[in-house]
This record gives sequence, structure tokens and C-alpha cells, in this order.
Amino acid sequence: MPDIASNIISLKQQIPSSVRLVAVSKTKSVNEILEAYNTGHRIFGENRVQELLSKKDLLPGDIEWHYIGHLQSNKVKYIVPFISLVQSVDTFRLLQIIDNEASKIRRVIDCLLQYHIAREETKFGFSMDEANEMMGSEGFQRLKQVKICGVMGMATFTSNTEQVRDEFRLLCNYFAELKRRYFSDMPSFREISMGMSGDFRIAIEEGSTIIRIGNIIFGERK
Ligand SMILES: *Cc1c(COP(=O)(O)O)cnc(C)c1O
Repeated sequence: MPDIASNIISLKQQIPSSVRLVAVSKTKSVNEILEAYNTGHRIFGENRVQELLSKKDLLPGDIEWHYIGHLQSNKVKYIVPFISLVQSVDTFRLLQIIDNEASKIRRVIDCLLQYHIAREETKFGFSMDEANEMMGSEGFQRLKQVKICGVMGMATFTSNTEQVRDEFRLLCNYFAELKRRYFSDMPSFREISMGMSGDFRIAIEEGSTIIRIGNIIFGERK
């Protein structure tokens, strides 16, 4: 049995206080989440809507939930009332649906644009061109209920640390380019979410502001 409380405390000692830690609790039970919560930790990440909804209701209301998985449009309405940050916006259409659902309940939803930085085909996300096309469009200007706070990306799953580092640098360049072109006067555009259990040290060296960690805290998933 992993000692979740010690794991999270020792992990926090290893990261600068300026970097936020998202405890990725997908597949983990309510009791396991509570073990982390009871150390004082409040930010948790999930990647399935149904699982998030069923666990959320059994857990304290002051948890900040981040959505980190591919989000289907028909499920947006279920998380919009409470989600703190949607890290995985990967299409303009999804952003429009979030905006529309948020307007119905007069919330503004913080979002990150997920970029495709890995060599693997399977990972979701924008390319630089796709994001620029969206940012320049009239439709984007009309969105009022979403706030773009930065970018998110996942590096290739590889032991080649130089490749991982290059991919994180690419994400930082995307962030800087967006900041320069579209968000230069917006201090809320400031997040670079990158780094998981296997690569968070490199991510922090390359400028990550949010790391998303599951295995190191909760033990390996089945
Ligand atoms: C599962 C997951 C993580 C955490 O991965 P670990 O290797 O368990 O740290 C981070 N980000 C995303 C998007 C994930 O799906």
C-alpha cells in the first residue's frame, strides 16, 4: 500500500512553491483522495466526467477540480457548474460549447489550450496553426464566458530526456507566442501545465507552472 500522505508531502518538498501541483486521482477511490486531502492538499485532476461526478459528491466541497482529459461536448454541462480549470480544451468547438453552457449559469470558466507536442499520434491537442486560426477568428472574439489562462501539453512517453525537454520547450514557445500576439495585456494568461510523474523535473526546469502527478502520489494505476 502506498503511503499517500507521505508521498504528497515529500513531493511538495521537491517542487518550488511557485509551481502548482495537481494530484491526478483518476481510477483512485474516494478514500485514497481523502488521504491526500487530509494533508492539506486541495487540487485534484480527473479525466472522465462520470467518474469525477460520482466521486465529487462524496468529497469535501472545497476541492478545486481540474479536468485533464478529452472532454466530449455532450458532457460539458455536467462539469461547468463546479470545475475550477478545464486544462484540456482541444478544439474551437469545445470552447464554444463551454462558453454556451457557462453563459446559462453566468459562470466564467478558466481554460487552458491543449497543444499537441508529442511525437505520438494519439494525443489530442491543437497545432500552432490551428490555435492561431482560432485566435484570429471573429467567433473567438465573441466568447465571453471562457477565460484562456494558458497552455497544457503532454510530452512523448520515452526515456529520451532530450526529446522530452525539446517538447516542453516547444510548448513554452507556443505559450510565449500566444502571450505576445493575443494576451500581452492579460496577467491571467500565465499558466504552462506540463510535467507528469516521469518527467516533472524536466518540466519544472523548462518553466512549468502546473504539474499533474498521479503515480508518484497514489501508486501505479492498474
Ligand atoms: C494520467 C495523467 C497524468 C498523470 O500521470 P502520472 O504518470 O500518473 O503522473 C497527467 N496528465 C494527464 C493529462 C493524465 O491523463
